[in-house]
Amino acid sequence: MDRITIKDKTFRVSMTEAEIKQRVRELAQQMSRELEGKNPLFLAVLNGAFIFAADLMREMTIPCEISFVKLASYQGTTSTGTIHEVIGINEDLTGRTVVIVEDIVESGLTIRRMMEQIGTRHPASVQVCTLFFKPERLTEDLKLDYVAFEIPNDFILGYGLDYDQQGRGLKDLYTLVKNMRNIVIFGAPGSGKGTQSDKLIEKYGLNHISTGDVLRAEIKKGSELGKTAQQFIDNGQLIPDDLMVSILASVYDGFGKDHAGVIFDGFPRTIPQAEALKAMLAERGHEVAAMLELDVPEDELMKRLLLRGQQSGRADDNEETIKKRLVVYHSQTQPLIEWYKQEGIHHHIDGLGDLDRIFGDICAVVDNI
Ligand code: AMP
Repeated sequence: MDRITIKDKTFRVSMTEAEIKQRVRELAQQMSRELEGKNPLFLAVLNGAFIFAADLMREMTIPCEISFVKLASYQGTTSTGTIHEVIGINEDLTGRTVVIVEDIVESGLTIRRMMEQIGTRHPASVQVCTLFFKPERLTEDLKLDYVAFEIPNDFILGYGLDYDQQGRGLKDLYTLVKNMRNIVIFGAPGSGKGTQSDKLIEKYGLNHISTGDVLRAEIKKGSELGKTAQQFIDNGQLIPDDLMVSILASVYDGFGKDHAGVIFDGFPRTIPQAEALKAMLAERGHEVAAMLELDVPEDELMKRLLLRGQQSGRADDNEETIKKRLVVYHSQTQPLIEWYKQEGIHHHIDGLGDLDRIFGDICAVVDNI
């Protein structure tokens, strides 16, 4: 069970029970050495820390005590915001070595307030032990004495931590899977895929794979792939599917596992490529969320491409090659519209007219992914 869904959110395992237990054992050994002879009093913060505290305590090899505290929050004046008061300390803390046991430290504000409140009860020392720490979120000037894991700023669940009170009993640690906006931007040559992709990248922080750009870069480098690609491109033909598919996975994996999404621009161009894309993404637990078909009449496409040829100097933007590319588009690429309709993710966009209006129509789809 490496993925679970709770309410509206999906999570995947990001740390196994065995990894957590191993690290908790190491931390307990370190604490046992450093706190020997001090009979430390652990103050475990409910609810989240109950499992960590139980495991930590059982791995300690020196005498120690444990008590559980809770943070009661009440609304302060507008300038102070929410106040957290520590409740549940029944022990006399005078002269004690106190260790606050937390499940997670983010901004550090809660811990700092706790340390201040505990400090008024005359302990010998107050230390902090936390299972997880998100360094990116820390805003307080705070020293954490014992940290089991430093983690990135993602929402986590399990091993005591909850999402809306659910999931605390999960043995492994899970991380929220962010909605991935994998988008196929689709259309004939000259339909505006590149222009709209640039706008999408800027607005949604997406990544971009333009297979045409990848091939042009290879041609420039003079690589074997570039040499093969050049002949096809000059003829307005498509590069063979197996070659294109093999390029795709490595470029895609370059974006990491938890990216915001990738715009596929110029890929897929054939049904076998669409099938290969679906399979490649499924192997990684991902999928295409939307296919956006930019629909532009043929006479307009020809006008745009001839103009682009004059401005950018792209060798395949000449009348003869454009005509071949459009024939290839109709015979091999256009059938994909039906294929994506069957998949239930096809969206028609009127690609003729004002750029911002077209982008607005695209955003209306992307916002709902
Ligand atoms: P583009 O920049 O997307 O218009 O692509 C320019 C040329 O690169 C195309 O006419 C094809 O020869 C080749 N090409 C780009 N993407 C693909 C693909 N997915 N499959 C096959 N050939 C492609």
